[in-house]
Amino acid sequence: MRRVLITGITGQDGGYLTEQLLAEGSQVHGLVHDQGETIGAFRADFPSVSVHVGDLADSDALRRLVSEVEPDELYNLAGISSVAFSWEQPVVTAEISGVAAAVLFQAALRLQEHTGRRIACVQASSSEIFGVAQTFPQDEDTPVRPVSPYGAAKAYAHHMAGVYRSKGLHVASCILFNHESPRRPATFVTRKITAAAARIGAEGSGVLRLGNLDAGRDWGWAPDYVDAMVRAARHDVGDDFVIATGRTHTVEEFAEAALRHAGVGDEWRDHIEVDPQFLRPMDTAVMVGNAGKARRELGWKPTLDFEEIVSRMVDHDMELLRAGS
Ligand code: NAP
Ligand code: GDP
Repeated sequence: MRRVLITGITGQDGGYLTEQLLAEGSQVHGLVHDQGETIGAFRADFPSVSVHVGDLADSDALRRLVSEVEPDELYNLAGISSVAFSWEQPVVTAEISGVAAAVLFQAALRLQEHTGRRIACVQASSSEIFGVAQTFPQDEDTPVRPVSPYGAAKAYAHHMAGVYRSKGLHVASCILFNHESPRRPATFVTRKITAAAARIGAEGSGVLRLGNLDAGRDWGWAPDYVDAMVRAARHDVGDDFVIATGRTHTVEEFAEAALRHAGVGDEWRDHIEVDPQFLRPMDTAVMVGNAGKARRELGWKPTLDFEEIVSRMVDHDMELLRAGS
């Protein structure tokens, strides 16, 4: 039976990855750092997963975890996932989203050398490593020039994936563009919009306050991106893969689609206001990825388009409203 270790197992992607791996019969282990409500809810949802309590900042504990679990596959999904938060905590972001990845790769390489078994590692990298890209769409050869603490931490981990690959470890760095689902927290713009659209649609009034409406993102469907990471782990060689839809939409277009789906008609624009508190000191303006290599080498392609992602998220938020939560 395949043994898998996931960091960040309680996050959006961690949940979908756990579902996919349990469904195929893998034995799943997860690192969880929050001992409060999160761990209780997670255990209730996934009783068959072995939960290991620990923090990515604790390098010794990470090394012990890898040598105890002896995984066949290691998915490093944990980290500070919000660009906005990384500006508040740049050093913590470097430790958690950067250095911890190197600790895990080193531990995996030691285990591989010790056991003689291949350990496949997947690093959840990010389009933010490209910063304000000068070429469109971005692919695996786009220069890595981050413009945020989050992007810089992810860039370090991405480079260390290459370093450990050259030492003989199978490390896939999946350069994930934004991916969404009803499990996305409202700190991200998509879920903030769909939650507000559901409310405005139900009440017939209300205002959605946003920052940069012109920012463009290549938004995909989270379960598709998790599937790409599994494919990358099982590819013949560890490599870099851009995972994206190849289509970009602005924040304003997302808001329009969500408000219309929630039943607000042509007057959707009346429900949006720009609030300077949501503008960022430095923002990546437009991102769009070319996942041609993942299509060719991993046989991966996105299954949901922009409209369907927006609809599913708004439907979920309308359902939550109806259920009174
Ligand atoms: P997420 O929902 O924010 O999940 C992050 C996970 O990391 C959570 O389980 C969190 O646990 C855990 N974590 C945070 N700090 C930790 C620490 N010190 N020790 C141990 N665990 C810690 O993120 P996601 O959306 O699933 O994304 C998964 C990965 O893909 C992240 O690394 C993210 O940066 C990357 N990525 C995501 C996107 C996207 O659009 N979603 C795009 C590009 C890259 P708690 O919940 O208990 O804090
Ligand atoms: P990110 O791409 O990982 O930073 O994901 P976010 O969902 O947080 O932000 C996507 C884009 O939406 C960024 O360019 C933000 O500047 C823009 N944006 C506009 N208004 C908001 C807002 O109210 N909240 C957030 N989180 N982002 C916003």
